[in-house]
Amino acid sequence: MQQLADSANRGVLGSGDPQAASLRTIPIRAQRTATREEQEVARVMQICNACRYCEGFCAVFPAMTRRLEFGSADVHYLANLCHNCGACLHACQYAPPHEFSVNVPQAMAVVRASTYHDYAWPRVMGGLYRRNGLTLSLALAAGLALFLALAVAMKGGLLHEPLAGNFYAVFPHNMLALMFGVVFLFSVFALAVGVTRFWRDVTPGRAPEGESMAAAGEAIDSALRLRYLGGGHGQGCNEADDAFALWRRRFHHSTFYGFMLCFASTSVATLYHYGLGLQAPYAMSSLPVVLGTLGGIGLLVGPAGLLWLNLRRHPLHGDAAQKPMDRGFIALLFATSATGLALLFGRDTGAMALLLAVHLGVVMAFFLTLPYGKFAHGIFRCAALLKYAIEKRQPNRLTAGLGD
Ligand code: SF4
Ligand code: SF4
Repeated sequence: MQQLADSANRGVLGSGDPQAASLRTIPIRAQRTATREEQEVARVMQICNACRYCEGFCAVFPAMTRRLEFGSADVHYLANLCHNCGACLHACQYAPPHEFSVNVPQAMAVVRASTYHDYAWPRVMGGLYRRNGLTLSLALAAGLALFLALAVAMKGGLLHEPLAGNFYAVFPHNMLALMFGVVFLFSVFALAVGVTRFWRDVTPGRAPEGESMAAAGEAIDSALRLRYLGGGHGQGCNEADDAFALWRRRFHHSTFYGFMLCFASTSVATLYHYGLGLQAPYAMSSLPVVLGTLGGIGLLVGPAGLLWLNLRRHPLHGDAAQKPMDRGFIALLFATSATGLALLFGRDTGAMALLLAVHLGVVMAFFLTLPYGKFAHGIFRCAALLKYAIEKRQPNRLTAGLGD
């Protein structure tokens, strides 16, 4: 207890201002000066390192015990390893209103958002993370949909004789492939550069000889099963109160696997078009349509559920300033799916061109905001999980008596 009080006091005593005190006293290894937010993570990690009550909750705490100091790179790594399940906040005897004011998920969430911004490519676009809110997302989607609808209207009218689901009678296939291909590739490249910068900064090192595959397998398994949304006991996250619930994990799974099914649908349709010479529209029982329909349902249920959870989360959870970014991403996912399903079921009607313009506008807005919005959390978290899987297979320098 004395050790814990000493750790806390480095942050809370002296000036009466925990953050001001921690700015003076916490050692930082990174070359640049740590931000206030990074110093707050370092402060709470030092308290947790003395307490260790939450050691079994998630990967953050075992990773923390391998460190005595928390430089910026360590803080970035731990922040992205945290899944914001809330378990350690609800279990913590030093959580607000205690004078130590330990709120691990909130401190981590604030830094996590800054990592998306700091590692963004090109750097000048990093500021979009702060502005990529609900209003911007919906306004962009509506603007692009309106633009495409006007283009259709100028070609001969928004309402037309049924075209038997032939989208390419409205927008030529090659034009769509070029437009969406360029934007999609740019988004993938920007995200890849960002996560590579993060990866270099957190210096994961190598897994011991012969254990690389095991480390990669563990990281993939943790990501696909969302292991750390189990709260450490498998009963789930804390949402509005102390009760555990698995809804966050379920809605994330519905969203992720729905997205992957939609991606598979597009990939199969591309193969049909270029590989087999089979042109859309495809029958309702065909593989691209079945995959797309199942994925679309998952992408309706998942985002709707995540929005419901987002609206009722405990006020001490996460970072309230990021809610517009969260909701903007959720809204675009939901709108992508809703307009896609509307197009599927309305493709044999005279409104098909209008439905297509709206769907393409939403999908384009989704792709354009992909590298500078909430989507980044999945990529950075996978990288942090891989580092954790590698690091736990490396010798622990602290227990080996070599120091950090
Ligand atoms: S969150 Fe609280 S209870 Fe958990 S390890 Fe940190 S100080 Fe201890
Ligand atoms: S909020 Fe959950 S995932 Fe994050 S540090 Fe606490 S227990 Fe771990």
